[in-house]
Amino acid sequence: MIQFRRKTLREVNHLLADSITQGSAAGGRSGEIFDPNAGEVQAKVAFGDAALLAKAVEAAKAAQPEWAATNPQRRARVFFKFKELVEANIDELARLLSSEHGKVVADSRGDVQRGLDVIEFCCGIPHVLKGEYTQGAGPGIDVYSMRQPLGIGAGITPFNFPAMIPMWMFGPAIACGNAFILKPSERDPSVPVRLAELMREAGLPEGILQVVHGDKEMVDAILDHEDIGAVSFVGSSDIAHYVYKRGVAAGKRVQAMGGAKNHGIVMPDADMDQVVNDLSGAAFGSAGERCMALPVVVPVGEDTAERLREKLLPAIAALRVGVSSDDDAHYGPVVNAAHRTRVENWIQTGVDEGAELVVDGRGFELQGHEKGFFIGPSLFDHVTTDMQSYKEEIFGPVLQIVRAKSFEEALRLPSEHQYGNGVAIFTRNGHAAREFAHRVNVGMVGINVPIPVPVAYHSFGGWKRSAFGDTNQHGIEGVKFWTKVKTITARWPDGTADADDKDAFVIPTMG
Ligand code: NAD
Repeated sequence: MIQFRRKTLREVNHLLADSITQGSAAGGRSGEIFDPNAGEVQAKVAFGDAALLAKAVEAAKAAQPEWAATNPQRRARVFFKFKELVEANIDELARLLSSEHGKVVADSRGDVQRGLDVIEFCCGIPHVLKGEYTQGAGPGIDVYSMRQPLGIGAGITPFNFPAMIPMWMFGPAIACGNAFILKPSERDPSVPVRLAELMREAGLPEGILQVVHGDKEMVDAILDHEDIGAVSFVGSSDIAHYVYKRGVAAGKRVQAMGGAKNHGIVMPDADMDQVVNDLSGAAFGSAGERCMALPVVVPVGEDTAERLREKLLPAIAALRVGVSSDDDAHYGPVVNAAHRTRVENWIQTGVDEGAELVVDGRGFELQGHEKGFFIGPSLFDHVTTDMQSYKEEIFGPVLQIVRAKSFEEALRLPSEHQYGNGVAIFTRNGHAAREFAHRVNVGMVGINVPIPVPVAYHSFGGWKRSAFGDTNQHGIEGVKFWTKVKTITARWPDGTADADDKDAFVIPTMG
């Protein structure tokens, strides 16, 4: 069971190389961490500043060369051990995660597991880092290339996946030989700190993974620090764009993933029971606070729309909203009161814009938890593309039906939307699915798969305003992001060269 109310206010502090600093106790700025189930502040997080970051960077600089020189098999062993430790502690981690985020515990376990999948990939890093070799690229010449770490990398992560996304970043970065500084979301920072502690317990040397807390001030300090070579960011699009521009201007490598508005296309031949089941989970699971949620459904043809709506209504009525520890709950509260207000304001905007609010989740109160940040499920029909509530990300338990007349119109909707993270098509027609997958202007596509988050050994990344930069998270893409390529062209002459060789003055060719 989750301990929802704590007697004393806990303090979540930075995890630096030499100690856990008592930031807020020392009088610095701090942030409030809510218990979304109870609607109360349950802990405080100490915010750091540029001076604290400088300390972390110094520790990282001191430790990184030796870590990079540690052979990849030994580096991999830390990940094997870490995997064991996370598995042994997964219940504790999931409960801690739920108590700050609000998602149900089973979903939090999934959050940890999807991060752990990338850690498993990191266990194979010796194979991945083997490099390339060409024997005899020219007369007596061999060429080989190797991937070397960048030095110090940083990650700035969102509140909605406080286990998975930090692991997506620090796993590959550290496996490749970098030191890593993590700045998790200030709304639910405890699980990232716990993961860093487990990495230390797994044998990671001091200084290779450190956690600093804060808000914009800390993010700016990271972006401006000249010794940080690469920054990976995941969060909302405006901030992603800002991070991308400022980081690149400072000469860093930056990948910055942003918001989303994923569409689910329902073709007339789709299995409607499966669609409704998949949609319920993908639209309302985690209270819609997923960048791969499906908040827009596009039935093709009026008949499909009517059949879908008829089946959706009882499915939505059957949804159980509950506290995170309720095993029967489909989803829990949203992360804080400000976010609940934001989602409810978007529902009002939808009404004002003329969409039909079929189910209204506003004003939902859970008995015994009246102060919790709960929102009931909402359903809009007859949403149109000119509406602001369609164009923007709501990030709550709100499903919007946009009716399309044809396959071509349905294909155009996600393709022309400002976001391009994920999309799904539900159909039994292989040709339609193939056409859709090839032509849609979106980064990740599901065919009868509502949440197409790719497995760890592929890579994750959206298009358009869902991602700035050109390298995805994890898989080989992640390895590319966290390393630079060095290419060596080698010749071992036999000592018989002509001292007066005029060819030396001509650009060398292998011809
Ligand atoms: P957010 O943008 O508010 O915060 C993300 C990070 O940026 C946090 O660490 C935060 O401290 C920092 N930050 C906040 N304001 C800042 C500012 N003004 N300047 C610099 N840094 C700042 O995002 P969130 O609310 O934590 O997460 C939800 C968002 O993340 C949604 O838009 C969601 O779609 C997106 N997301 C995207 C992906 C993806 O892979 N594309 C994955 C998960 C979440």
